[in-house]
Amino acid sequence: MAATEFEALPALEGAEPRLGTLVMKFGGTSVADPAKIKDVARRIVDARAQGNRVVAVLSAMGDSTDDLVRLAYEVSPQPKPRELDMLISVGERISCALAAMAIHDLGAEAISLTGSQAGIVTDTVHGHAKIVDVRARRIHEALDQDRIVLVAGFQGVSTDYDITTLGRGGSDTTAVALAAALGAGVCEIYTDVDGVYTADPRLVPEARKLHAVSYEEMLELAASGAKVLQVRSVEVARSHSVKLHVRSTFSAADGTWIREEDERMLEKALISGVTHTREEMLYRVDGTTPARLFAVLANAGVNVDTIVRTGPEILFSAPAEDRDAAGDALDGLGVEWSARDDLGTVSVIGAGMKSHPGVAAKAFEALAAAGIEPDLVTTSPIKISCHVRSEEVERAVAELHRAFELDAPEAERQHG
Ligand code: ADP
Ligand code: ASP
Ligand code: MG
Repeated sequence: MAATEFEALPALEGAEPRLGTLVMKFGGTSVADPAKIKDVARRIVDARAQGNRVVAVLSAMGDSTDDLVRLAYEVSPQPKPRELDMLISVGERISCALAAMAIHDLGAEAISLTGSQAGIVTDTVHGHAKIVDVRARRIHEALDQDRIVLVAGFQGVSTDYDITTLGRGGSDTTAVALAAALGAGVCEIYTDVDGVYTADPRLVPEARKLHAVSYEEMLELAASGAKVLQVRSVEVARSHSVKLHVRSTFSAADGTWIREEDERMLEKALISGVTHTREEMLYRVDGTTPARLFAVLANAGVNVDTIVRTGPEILFSAPAEDRDAAGDALDGLGVEWSARDDLGTVSVIGAGMKSHPGVAAKAFEALAAAGIEPDLVTTSPIKISCHVRSEEVERAVAELHRAFELDAPEAERQHG
């Protein structure tokens, strides 16, 4: 796989801000069946009727991306990345074409575009491509003709003219990059929960919906397991100052705002949330240097997370789905290595940590009181992350959520 040779962020020079442009992104559950697609079409048409120039980015229906991936592996044990992208990019195209039909039936004009037609240009890394440019001329033309524009999320065309995909959850990034390129001040992310919560609401019923979260906190939340936004979309939003509004497709309620930090976010609660991952691989490697090791892993497309070096030994963690790539890369290096697959992570995130000592002590105390002993601990200025045994993850999340009183109304950071 070729590494990116391009500026890592979309080049958006010359993007002309147009007032009244609204980018709305709808996730897979929101367009899971024909009735839901019609509801989404109605919502898009209503936004147009309020005077907005509307660009809607859609995900593939329900679990159809998973189905396509499964299909590929039923045909071939190691599908070629180029062909896999050709296949799995199809799902979003289906949603957009269907939504355009539903919009026509409501009496409005709409045009569906693939990522490539919409001018989403990426690097050449299949499966994890990065957007390097947005050539929005065609979208502007369609908007100028008073049309609603539907863009297939999660995909683009590479500088080598191949179809690429942006990594799982990538429609979020399509939407944010378009919002930046079109000069839309806000990107609305419509999903199956009504905002970003203090923990995954499916795991912690007492979790509270956050009113506002800073870009930095959202980056850490997304990177440590809150899958409600793709990490890359938050990076793009931060660098281009696009405000995100994460909200429910199924209600009109206000959701969560992701934006610049402001002290009102911190005056009520130091911690914004607790996140988790259930499966993480932890590798132990001996007999190489970090420079050699991480160069090889990067080349193999392994998404290395935590790195710890103690003496000659190097410990690092990586997502379970990169297991084969990591194993092959380590075998190729000819080093001694072993891996554990019985761990997950639990993390506490909050910008207030920067100025308030004692957060780590409180987290370890809460875990110890529950008989949970982390195997590995890593920190950033606004995150404490613990590797614990997979079967302890749920309990660890609940204990930390309680210890930091995230079930209290103050955790929502509601302000005027
Ligand atoms: P979409 O298909 O709309 O992109 P995703 O499934 O990617 O939606 O993301 C939404 C899901 O993220 C929710 O259903 C929820 O279970 C999960 N999630 C995990 N952590 C959080 C959190 N802290 N706040 C909100 N949702 C979360
Ligand atoms: N359909 C893609 C996925 O399931 C992209 C997305 O939904 O954002 O990962
Ligand atoms: Mg998603």
